[in-house]
Amino acid sequence: ERERLSRLRHTPAVTLDGHKIELLANIEMPEDAPAAVKAGAVGVGLFRSEFLFMGRQGNLPGEQEQYQAYRRAVEGMQGLPVTIRTVDVGADKPLDRALKDDAHLNPALGLRAIRWSLADPAMFLTQLRAILRAAAHGQVNLLIPMLAHGSEIRHTLALIDHARAELDNKGVAHGPVKLGAMIEIPAAALSLRLFLKHFDFLSIGTNDLIQYTLAIDRADESVAHLYDPMHPAVLRLVADTIAECHAQGKGVSVCGEMAGDVVFTRLLLGLGLRSFSMHPAQILAVKQEVLRADVARLQGWARQVLESDDPAAALAP
Ligand code: PEP
Ligand code: MG
Repeated sequence: ERERLSRLRHTPAVTLDGHKIELLANIEMPEDAPAAVKAGAVGVGLFRSEFLFMGRQGNLPGEQEQYQAYRRAVEGMQGLPVTIRTVDVGADKPLDRALKDDAHLNPALGLRAIRWSLADPAMFLTQLRAILRAAAHGQVNLLIPMLAHGSEIRHTLALIDHARAELDNKGVAHGPVKLGAMIEIPAAALSLRLFLKHFDFLSIGTNDLIQYTLAIDRADESVAHLYDPMHPAVLRLVADTIAECHAQGKGVSVCGEMAGDVVFTRLLLGLGLRSFSMHPAQILAVKQEVLRADVARLQGWARQVLESDDPAAALAP
């Protein structure tokens, strides 16, 4: 079985009825890039940049250190696209510096991800400049986590423009990036028009989307049995996001755990998803599902699952 999977590595991910499916890797450090290429990923769909920031006893990486790291990831992918997500610390990914503030509050609803970045514009600009500079070395997409509000979108876009202007003024080389937003808060999934007006692509973060839709802490074992990717409300938000992106001609992928779980591959294909980003170790197994799938036949079935009161039962073979 292992050998058969590894032979699949260079087989393109195309469904029985000819739909090309993009299978991308989630990485945490630049050193993960070679494993992603080896697993057959056609790019990085999620580089969780916070791993460069965590566990450093307060001293954050500067522009040069970040630039070198992002550049290593881009070069490690050998010309394939790399989607770099700006820092997503807080909640399940505490930064030492933030720990003290998190202790007595609800960190999942607090100053995490883009909220944390926007609270310290100088620090955020440092990261944005480093990413834009790495984009001079290959195809880079810039992805923003945890956006919910129009004002956050406007503030973020203004800082991206500012970072680019700073590099121009100093004559420092940088490259173009496509801009993407994570859809991982229900408010974002219910404001798609706003997001699609400002971004080139969306990436659905199901790990947090499930947590926030169901009010279930993703890290709390005592309620883990209620953390349900198949809740009709979660599926509705995922399905609508995919459909709306297609309608507007914008790219959309799923980069949460759902994308790498073979239980959901056929359902997501049936809902129209063509881009999946996952841990490199999952790529071959998901590709195997893709190769066996007939999207034309899955569409009607996926609708039925979506409209069912008990999608988990409807999903069962
Ligand atoms: C997600 O929320 O689904 C996601 C991909 O981001 P993270 O797991 O890093 O929060
Ligand atoms: Mg998330």
